[in-house]
Amino acid sequence: MERTLNKELPNSVGKSVSISGRIEVRRDHGKLIFLDVRDRSGTVQVVVSPKAPGALEVAKDLRAQWVVSIEGEVKARTENTKGEGPLGGVELVAQAIQVLAKAEELPFELGTEVNIDTHFDHLPLTLRSERSRDIFTMQASILESYRASLRRQEFTEFQAPALVGGDAEGGAAAFKVEYYNDKTAFLATSPQFYKQIMVGPFERAFTVAKIFRAEKSATTRHLSEANCIDFEMGFIDDEREPMHVLQEVMRDVVSYVSKEHADMFARFGTTPPLIPDEIPVLTLQEALKTLGKKEAPDMEPEDERGICEWAKKEKGSDFVFITRYPTKKRAFYTYEDPAEAPYSRGFDLLFRGLEINSGSQRIHDYEALIARMKERGLDPEKFSFYLQAFKYGLPPHGGCSTGLERFTARMLEVPNVKEASAFPRDMSRIDTRISD
Ligand code: ATP
Ligand code: MG
Repeated sequence: MERTLNKELPNSVGKSVSISGRIEVRRDHGKLIFLDVRDRSGTVQVVVSPKAPGALEVAKDLRAQWVVSIEGEVKARTENTKGEGPLGGVELVAQAIQVLAKAEELPFELGTEVNIDTHFDHLPLTLRSERSRDIFTMQASILESYRASLRRQEFTEFQAPALVGGDAEGGAAAFKVEYYNDKTAFLATSPQFYKQIMVGPFERAFTVAKIFRAEKSATTRHLSEANCIDFEMGFIDDEREPMHVLQEVMRDVVSYVSKEHADMFARFGTTPPLIPDEIPVLTLQEALKTLGKKEAPDMEPEDERGICEWAKKEKGSDFVFITRYPTKKRAFYTYEDPAEAPYSRGFDLLFRGLEINSGSQRIHDYEALIARMKERGLDPEKFSFYLQAFKYGLPPHGGCSTGLERFTARMLEVPNVKEASAFPRDMSRIDTRISD
């Protein structure tokens, strides 16, 4: 019999159908066995009774995570026996059950809270939990709406390389890769150079790129491998323009996920983010002053949390921009207007207590960029490939980069960014734990 998806069952009451899916829960009530069977469209209850002895015989062995096909008749459930969820109004009375795959006894019941390392050790199993499914459904929605917003704003997507000849940021620790002819390559720490180059052909370009960071940081906000959404745009007057595009993206993403995933926010005990018409903007020094702190070149994680609490309380915003960091604290390609020195035209976007995005207006003048490199002790010779973009003329431009895992984690107020990576890599793990 052709497969019917669970979500179609309310339209099939009284009919015989065949469903396929995974058993989430088995419950025994006297001579009856109840199975909650999930497929990609939802979960439905199946009843197996002695009236179908063949099905009952098979059902006796069934446990959570077994994969089955079940033929039966769809029945409407009464008001008293109605189940939970959108398909709680119907059930399938089993006539025949076929086992497609058995599952060994689980190391722990799925959905119960386990230690985060135990969770990561068993990802092929634990990713099937509702919590994980929610997190990665949210992530897919964020990515989809982020892309759509940039396309709407006339950006062209391109694919950035993950293998690079040098470290893009000229600072962040990079992983080395043995390349051909004894040449050492690196895993990209950022698609920065490539997106700037793409301003040449496209004016407005973006990429969803893998970044790899070898910093030895064991925190709840750093991964060794992350995904970032980077855009870059030409013909800007200052950093306000990329900030404006980013604000539009954030509004589009928030509006999409608020509409699509109201139930998810509720399950995570949070609400859709607040985003006012204008996201508040503070200079670094204003932010520190607001927090009652003295001047400093950067913000500490506790300051990021503090200023976000302030923005929520005083401005009704879960987002806040921080601008005007000292130039020396920012990447070498960050533009500094002489009238604004020693502050640069860089910005960070903080969301619910954490930096999720960094950006700036970039230096677009060839000579100025070379001078800045020398100031930073970088050898322009080593950047000759990238520098061609400037040698042959690039308009004033700027852009920024959002960490997808950080954005997802804060969206659902998941405390550890690693939980927002389906397959997190950190100092202690590549799938399995690295023994020390
Ligand atoms: P931080 O100072 O918080 O370590 P960063 O300033 O080094 O981050 P950027 O180089 O500005 O990070 O990267 C742009 C964005 O990419 C960050 O705002 C963040 O969302 C994300 N990102 C950067 N590094 C990591 C990482 N190791 N793990 C997860 N996300 C990251
Ligand atoms: Mg940053």
